[in-house]
Amino acid sequence: MNISVDALNLNFLSLSLYANNVRQQLISSQYDSSTYRFTIKPVMFLKPNITYRLEFNYTGLINDYRDGGLFYTRWRDNYFGYTNHYIVATFFAIGYGARSTFPCFDDPSFKANFSVTLISPTAFKALGNMPLESENEIDNGYSIRTFKTTLKMSTYLIAFATGDLVNKTATAKDGTQISFWAWNADLGIDEVGLSGPWMNRLNVSLDTSVKCFEVLSDYMAFKFPLPKLDHLALPQFSYGGMENWGLITYDYNFVLFKDGEDHAADKLLSIQIMCHEMAHQWFGDLVTNEWWSEIMLHESLADYFEMTSIGIMYPNQSEFMDSYFVATRQEHALQVDSGYYNNTLTGGKIHPLILKPDGSFDDITYEKGGALLRMLSGTFGPTLFQEALRNYLVKYQFGNADHFQFFEEFTQVAQKYKNITDFCGNPLDVNQLMDAWVNVPHFPQIDVDLTNDGRAFVPSQEPFLPIWYLPQGYNYSWMIPTYVLEYQKGRSFKWIPPNNFSCPNLAKHTDIQTFDPYMLYNDGAPTYARVHYEEGAHNKIRQLLRQDNGTISINTKIRLIADEWAFIDRDMVLLGLPPKLHRGMQILESILNSSFSVHTTTFMAAQSVFDTIFELSRDRHEYELYLKFLIPILENFYQKVGWNGTNDDFNTNMLRERVLYYAVRFDILDSRAMAMQYWKNLSVWCAMHFDYNCNILNPNIRRAVYCGAMWDDNGSVFELLREFLEIAEGGYYTSREITSIVSGLACAQNHTVINWILDDLYSLSNNSTRYNLYNSFSYFYNNLNASEVMADYIIKNPQKVLDGLNCYIGLPCVMEPFLDGMTGLWYTDRRKDQYNQIYNQLYPNMDIYDKAYFQTYYNVLLSANLRGQYVYPDMTRWMYDNYVPIGKSPWTVKINQIIVPYNYNLTVKPYFPSSYKYGIGKNFTFDAIVNISATILQQDTIILNSHRHMIHRIQVTANRSIINIPIAAVYRDNENAFLTIKLAQPIPQNTNINIIIEYTGFIKDSPGEGEYINFDYLEVNKKKSWIFATDFEGGPSARSLAPCLDEPVYKAIWSVTVQYPMDMVALSNGLEERTISLGGGLAQTIFKDTPKMSSYLLAITIGDYAALRGLTNSGQIVRIWTWTGMQNNAVVALKAAIDTINFLTNYTGITLPLDKIDVMCLPQYEGDAMYAMENWGLIIAGYKECLWSPDYRTTYHYTDTYWTIAHETTHQWFGDLVTLEWWNYIFLNEAFATYWPLVVMNATYPDQADYANFQRFYDAETGFVLDQDIDTTVPIVVNETRLGHGYDLFGNLNYYKASSILHMLHTTINNTNFQKSLQNYLLAHEQGNAKDFELWQKFDEVMLNSTSVYDWNSMPLNVTKYMTPWFYQETFPIIKVVTTSDGLSYSFQQTPFIQSGLPNDQSSLWPIQLWFETEFYERRDFTWLASQSTLPRAFPRGWRVVNPKREAYVRVWYDDLSWAPIQTQLQSNWSVFDPITRAQFIIDTYTFANQQFISWSRFLNLIKYAGNAPELATWQILSDIMDELGTTSWLAIFKFQPEYAKLQTFLLQILSTNKDKLFIQTGNWAKDMSSHYITGLSCYLGSNDCLNQASSLFNQFISNCQNSAYGTGKCNKVPPDHRVVQYCFGLRQNPNSVTAVWNLIQWFTDNSPLTDYFNDAEALLVALACLNDDTQVEQYLMDAVNYRLSAEFFSFSAQYDMSGNRLFNFLQKNLQIVVNSEHFNEIVNNLAFGWSTDEQLNKLQNFDWQGITLTSNQANAWNKMIDGVNGTRNWLKKNQPAISTWFNMNI
Ligand SMILES: [Zn+2]
Repeated sequence: MNISVDALNLNFLSLSLYANNVRQQLISSQYDSSTYRFTIKPVMFLKPNITYRLEFNYTGLINDYRDGGLFYTRWRDNYFGYTNHYIVATFFAIGYGARSTFPCFDDPSFKANFSVTLISPTAFKALGNMPLESENEIDNGYSIRTFKTTLKMSTYLIAFATGDLVNKTATAKDGTQISFWAWNADLGIDEVGLSGPWMNRLNVSLDTSVKCFEVLSDYMAFKFPLPKLDHLALPQFSYGGMENWGLITYDYNFVLFKDGEDHAADKLLSIQIMCHEMAHQWFGDLVTNEWWSEIMLHESLADYFEMTSIGIMYPNQSEFMDSYFVATRQEHALQVDSGYYNNTLTGGKIHPLILKPDGSFDDITYEKGGALLRMLSGTFGPTLFQEALRNYLVKYQFGNADHFQFFEEFTQVAQKYKNITDFCGNPLDVNQLMDAWVNVPHFPQIDVDLTNDGRAFVPSQEPFLPIWYLPQGYNYSWMIPTYVLEYQKGRSFKWIPPNNFSCPNLAKHTDIQTFDPYMLYNDGAPTYARVHYEEGAHNKIRQLLRQDNGTISINTKIRLIADEWAFIDRDMVLLGLPPKLHRGMQILESILNSSFSVHTTTFMAAQSVFDTIFELSRDRHEYELYLKFLIPILENFYQKVGWNGTNDDFNTNMLRERVLYYAVRFDILDSRAMAMQYWKNLSVWCAMHFDYNCNILNPNIRRAVYCGAMWDDNGSVFELLREFLEIAEGGYYTSREITSIVSGLACAQNHTVINWILDDLYSLSNNSTRYNLYNSFSYFYNNLNASEVMADYIIKNPQKVLDGLNCYIGLPCVMEPFLDGMTGLWYTDRRKDQYNQIYNQLYPNMDIYDKAYFQTYYNVLLSANLRGQYVYPDMTRWMYDNYVPIGKSPWTVKINQIIVPYNYNLTVKPYFPSSYKYGIGKNFTFDAIVNISATILQQDTIILNSHRHMIHRIQVTANRSIINIPIAAVYRDNENAFLTIKLAQPIPQNTNINIIIEYTGFIKDSPGEGEYINFDYLEVNKKKSWIFATDFEGGPSARSLAPCLDEPVYKAIWSVTVQYPMDMVALSNGLEERTISLGGGLAQTIFKDTPKMSSYLLAITIGDYAALRGLTNSGQIVRIWTWTGMQNNAVVALKAAIDTINFLTNYTGITLPLDKIDVMCLPQYEGDAMYAMENWGLIIAGYKECLWSPDYRTTYHYTDTYWTIAHETTHQWFGDLVTLEWWNYIFLNEAFATYWPLVVMNATYPDQADYANFQRFYDAETGFVLDQDIDTTVPIVVNETRLGHGYDLFGNLNYYKASSILHMLHTTINNTNFQKSLQNYLLAHEQGNAKDFELWQKFDEVMLNSTSVYDWNSMPLNVTKYMTPWFYQETFPIIKVVTTSDGLSYSFQQTPFIQSGLPNDQSSLWPIQLWFETEFYERRDFTWLASQSTLPRAFPRGWRVVNPKREAYVRVWYDDLSWAPIQTQLQSNWSVFDPITRAQFIIDTYTFANQQFISWSRFLNLIKYAGNAPELATWQILSDIMDELGTTSWLAIFKFQPEYAKLQTFLLQILSTNKDKLFIQTGNWAKDMSSHYITGLSCYLGSNDCLNQASSLFNQFISNCQNSAYGTGKCNKVPPDHRVVQYCFGLRQNPNSVTAVWNLIQWFTDNSPLTDYFNDAEALLVALACLNDDTQVEQYLMDAVNYRLSAEFFSFSAQYDMSGNRLFNFLQKNLQIVVNSEHFNEIVNNLAFGWSTDEQLNKLQNFDWQGITLTSNQANAWNKMIDGVNGTRNWLKKNQPAISTWFNMNI
């Protein structure tokens, strides 16, 4: 049998083997240089359990410290001739190992006792694992020292050292002697009488190491087995520290610390390292790993304890230490475990923690291992975790162990205390738990995603990186222990089992419902995983964070920040997905603005993000936006940390060091002034005491003070700092101070000073002895001014900077750090160009190394540029969305004419999902270039509007681009969307200039204003495709598409070019002039120049379109566009557009200057696709106002579609050709566009005059609704200052009141005058603008020459005077017809409808042209009721009706005497009065009765007769008042009142004369629409005729349609007008057909997402609500709660609920479900439909919530509902008695 001994680099002189002290003969002894083994073959046969002795006589080497083994290190003495002093020490864990010092069994499991003797100079100290046993001086000044024999230990832990050392010693409370040693240096400058300045530094190190030792010793409950523990700081050492048993060795940089000179962060680091090495005294030294693959038993544990033990040392900082662990160790481990850092030892590969065969001393072992132990501690709780560790130490002391044995101790504890169970409920097997964590590389991502039905969030797991990035052969699935914080449930432990795992009692994870306010996974960050939230869940967390009251831990916040940014990095860098930077910014914004988040670790987590975004935006025109994000956060932090404080709190001191530096850089609050103050104090002090120690500043604030002082420095600060730098350069322990000084210098902004600094750094670096100061050049990387100076410097001083060869061969060099500093902010194309120019200029001076370095940096620039392209748009969009108004209606701050544009040449290329492929950062953005031709009025300034743009390049040229005008500065005003370009020199006024701007803009990803996206469902294949469109009259406005002068007065020609996917259609204002293919799936269309027009009328749309076409009488093309497949529904729109153009061309005498008029009907638009915009030549409308299908759309929809398209077409003249001058004249657009469609309709549909007349009448009613209420009335023309302050620019008054007044004017002056005036107006202002008085002026001119109309003074009518009060006053007049006291005449009085609260300047008088109709004479006449308010008249016989057909915008009040003959006439023959006049009687009477001005009996008597009329005007008004569906209608108000039966009888009486109007369709719009009202009301009130018809029509429908594969449109013979009634009352009487109805609803849901267009789906839903079976309806209500039926069902079920208790009962029965449901408010809003009784009120007020708390939003809805009931009760209190009396007498 042979003996093999490890040996390396040893020179053997002799070798002996002894058995029983007898030397044995050897056959051979051979050294194998491949295994470093000495193999000895003895003659004798070696037997087990016998002790043999091997004796070697050899020599060996003392190595360089980097090689380990026995090594030398040295320091240089600066005061005694610069001599070198040597220390010899050992380091056996790495490098050559113990075998290079003595032959041994160099394997951790071969533990033994060691006796070491050392011979070294007597003047030297000698240290070993054990204390000295003996020491004897021998000759030559040498001594022989023998250390006590060690305990059983591994070879790699053997240590000894000798040198000229000094120490400080203390005794720990368990008696262990603890010493801190360093070399005996720098004797000359001892400042406190000890031997050398180091001695001061030993104090803190010794104190803290003793403290940490005691903490560890207590924790382990295992006394340190050696009598002493030495710490030795060496001048050079390969690692931070080495845990040799009893003699720990360190690199001095990490452990020698001095308060007052070093940063708190350095102190913390030094304590960490000491604690780490001391933890090894137990974990590693006492119990050693079996083999190096089990290294986690050393390093993971030491890593865990290096921070935890500090938390125990300083209990008030334990929370900070835990957060510090999460922010540094855990996060760094996750990054390393994602392959982000190059692990040199493993070739950068991700690997399992247990790495076969030999383990790895890398961050996976240390940091991941530490993080996993922390997770285990989180799972067990601190006490049981500690118990398992203690058991482990006892069991394996002086021996070895592996991880199975280690984890087994935890299993034992889990079994002992049964409460620690796995997800199957069994006692936890920790080897099973940890198996994947230590044997599988990488880590899990917990996904919190929506379930398929969208109702809950469930967690699942997958590896963070996609599987194809990970090493093969592993099952990437983990047993994940974690904590979840849930709303109202608090924090609880949860398992996420491995994938595909099942067990009999698998604890089901309770789903978290989507309506729960939040759920936070990995709360407190115990779990080694990242958590990814679906957007909805993430949003809830952000909301929670915004209401932060300190309940969310710092750890959780760190993880939320770090995880989100890790996903962003991964998606972008690895997966090439569009980065969701906005989510990262959102999470930062929601966390860091809270004072509870001010913490070193949160700042650390965010800091790299701040820096990244800063780098990306600093050199761009959007930098201000970044400041809007950053500054509030920095203010929050700055205010909390302040400058002062001397305590030993790591968190505050470290935070101060970081935050203050940012604060001064970003000029936060008083930070610069504070920095200057500190600097002044320092410079005054140092002027008096200039020496090494004159710096009195707290080290933690120095960087900030230096930076703040340098900012505006002109040289004096620089002078002193440079002296500090020289001193620091000469010191030993000053690298941090150098960093602070250089960071400060790098803040200089003054170009001259920066030049001085560059020169100085260069010369200092050249003379530097200790530090490489050249690196200082790189500190300028975030100083934009400096980058310009450096660009200049390198060209002027190439000999100083170009030293590429030095960089190449690894010598200190300038070039690399210099280029680093110069280009740190260079991300743009412009900088790429600048860099290349520098390269070209320097080229002749460069050698190949210089060129190589320049090229390298160019590549850095390229990748920075690319990164910018990826992420800059998303982050900029987010900042625009959050910190800048999205839009204003209107933008109120005007540009005062500085330039006048005459042409815009605009090219736009939008990016949205389509067949065209583009870069990942571009989605929903557009690239564009605009060339603005303009005349300059102010000589050196250009102001444009620009909004939400990323501006890449601005160029200004003069005189047809011949002269380039340099730009001095560019400013953005985001609040008003101004872009100001300051020119470097003034240029002559009236010069023609061109402004060329390249930029990128944003597209909203859903329908809205500005540039937005729309998606449709192609009817043919249900394919979803995308549409791009614009809408600029409000919101972001045209300034968001192109920099322009975005006010209506700046009319210009627009030359538009669009680049778009080839398979789509692009439209703009002008006709397509030329389309070409650009290749790559891209087409380009150039559109014909527009006429001169306002920017808000610009429009572009792109999509998969088809059109219906026609021609106008004058030959213009009209096209109605819609998404392919829908164009057959465009017939009505086409007719409306052509009719309107033909009519207005003829009427105005002006042919539009357009080749074509397009109407684009979009599938989606703001406000439920019911909106339209009159862009010149390209109207864009929501399809509901634009498409009409006879199969599904009602008569009302027909008229509405026709009207809307006619309205927008009218705008082509009124608004587009002649445009309002400013937005307070919006009526110049809207009043005309509302006025003309009814005129056009009258002209083109003469047989539908009833409808047009009705609509004119009803327009005024629409105006009155707002004009009667003090809260909503407003003049049509408001003072400019009211714009943008809650004034509704597009309010109904500007449309309907204003058009009613135009109608009044038209009646007054007759059509000829009206036409002539408007023609003159249009001609005078065509392609220009107008104000109101310019319009009226044209009327005045015409009226002067007209002899037909005179005013109240018998003068030609002055229209300006006539109109002004109507347009400038609030509310409207009532005409009171009052019988004079003699009874012989009436007086006519006008009074404002609103009596009090009107503005003082309102004169309250309107010129009113009053028309009359009388019974016997003066059949129709008028008089003026203007300056005077009464007008006596001879008493007529019979009735006299004032304002018949409502020509004037007034209501009329008759006293009883004047009313009586009218009532008499109605009773005898109502048809004497025209329908409008009768409807007016009803609504005026109703209005005044409601105000108690008229008795209810007059109203009821009136409708008893007038109601008999079948016309639309009457039934629209009656329906408005009585209506079965309105919450304030009589049928609701009286629903639970005793009068209800009589009201029902009364209404049925009125209806009884209209039986022939049920379910009819005649083609007469007015008749069909009134039939709709009559039919609905009849069936609702239980008319048998109606119900019978409904039943039979419904049964026909079921038999025809129940099997239809094409919906219900054609198979149902009942016209769409009546289908709601047909379905509702049909199903109510035939409930057996409910399944058929249900199936048809499902057909619509499955086949047509446009269910509300094909409105049968909605009508069928009403049918379900009409069922009488409460149980069944309750089921449907539950379906609606669960999203299986549309939420409209809640209101339907209330409206058609005969009992009135359905929703209330539903709430009571399902209280918890409803309260948790998103539909709570909707249910509550409808719950008390018609409720009014005491009992009902009582039920609501005393509702038993069973202990459930409502959110404030829910409570508001509940209270608002009760307010509604009280409102009804108040109305009844006032009005019910009179109504009741009338009913009792008449019914
Ligand atoms: Zn309009």
